[in-house]
Amino acid sequence: MTVRTRIAPSPTGDPHVGTAYIALFNLCFARQHGGEFILRIEDTDRVRSTAESEQMILDSLRWLGLEWDEGPDVGGPHGPYRQSERGDIYAEHARKLIESGHAFKCYRTSDELDELRETRKAAGLHLALKPADLALPEEEVARREREGWPHVVRMHVPASGTCVVDDMLRGTIEVDWAQVDAQILLKSDGMPTYHLANVVDDHLMGITHVLRGEEWINSAPKHQLLYEYFGWPMPTLCHMPLLRNPDKSKLSKRKNPTSINYYRRMGFLPQAVTNYLGRMGWSMPDEREKFTLDEMMSHFDVQRVSLGGPVFDLQKLSWLNGLYIREDLDDDAFLKALRDWAFNEEYVRQILPQVRPRVETLSDVMPLAGHFFSGVPAIEEGDFDGVKLGREDLVKLLQFLTWRLETVPAWHKEALLTEVKALAAHFELKMKDFLAPVFIAITGSVASTSVMDAMAILGSDMTRARLRHAIAVLGGVSKKQAKRFEKEYREL
Ligand code: GLU
Repeated sequence: MTVRTRIAPSPTGDPHVGTAYIALFNLCFARQHGGEFILRIEDTDRVRSTAESEQMILDSLRWLGLEWDEGPDVGGPHGPYRQSERGDIYAEHARKLIESGHAFKCYRTSDELDELRETRKAAGLHLALKPADLALPEEEVARREREGWPHVVRMHVPASGTCVVDDMLRGTIEVDWAQVDAQILLKSDGMPTYHLANVVDDHLMGITHVLRGEEWINSAPKHQLLYEYFGWPMPTLCHMPLLRNPDKSKLSKRKNPTSINYYRRMGFLPQAVTNYLGRMGWSMPDEREKFTLDEMMSHFDVQRVSLGGPVFDLQKLSWLNGLYIREDLDDDAFLKALRDWAFNEEYVRQILPQVRPRVETLSDVMPLAGHFFSGVPAIEEGDFDGVKLGREDLVKLLQFLTWRLETVPAWHKEALLTEVKALAAHFELKMKDFLAPVFIAITGSVASTSVMDAMAILGSDMTRARLRHAIAVLGGVSKKQAKRFEKEYREL
């Protein structure tokens, strides 16, 4: 048997470090067994998936040196490798499940579903909806079908009992069937849900081992059941521990930069980031901290993964990155790294229109545009003295903007302007006054290039990291303030 693993990212945002971490472990597992590593794009969420995001994911994984044997860009014998191009396959498999009595069409409306959940809640039952709850009298189903009501396809699940799932790291996991709902397999628009598409693809693509984040443990019983329904062998499962912030909470972009784009923009070396990701819950047999991807592949042993939540700590990563720069880069390699990073035509070209109208000599460029070539600017509280806003409003403005920017789907200037305008109106400020503190937070000075363009060029994570830093410099947000802010923000 050839070991085949995969990474199956959903292209719905920035390329996440968590994706790279799971990709790395799948790649090492496959290579260690002389196997293959596949990249599949799970873009069944047609509203949130974008081609831009897919491209960024491919670019970042490749930047990190994590190469795949089959995928949407390199092809392979099991394509297409994008789920949006496999619609017929899922429809066909859903049909088979209906025919074999393992799935059913469900014509329930969302109001009815709410009501059913209320009834279960009132009876003190688990909220998972079971096939028996969802059943309608036959003539009613026939009527709704005749009248062309929208419907979904759901899978049958046992009403009670225990489901036992094997996991390479966790041994057996037991889940109470009562907690598992009659999962939707095909949505009313005919698109598959993650569960159906994932199982069908893993089978058809010959995946033998699924290493994925622990947030998917609850899906495992449904997947196991689907494999049984189809009569297919199930891949071996391995749920990896989630990456954590230093305070042990789940790594999230609210607290830390999570996009690989950020680490790239910040000037981390890809080999250092990959090395650091390899340290997430795993260690070399001799416990050394610095190792190459090849070394990790040849010493990899999944049983050495420890389940205690690995902490993704920027300071440790910076320390390791420093080692790489000092120990591994001779002058030529250092120069090349700088060129790859920011001193290259592609990046500098983006900055030219920003500086051209504002300089007299070439030597004016760096003082004016230095923030395009730096991390978080060295600002102080006093830098905000000229801003005509009370302290609380000032922090609130920066906090609201940070939150707002977390949800911008496509990062470009127009989208950012829309957000800024909406917030300026909320604060009843002219754009110029609203942007004054933002300007300092982003560029580190009161006179520089256009702040809106700077945010667009710097990217989402770097922009938000700078805003977060400014908030910290201004004393941060107290717990009480956070509560007030959140309430007001929700009502926006
Ligand atoms: N599309 C899922 C994700 O975004 C894949 C989960 C899995 O590996 O099964 O992480």
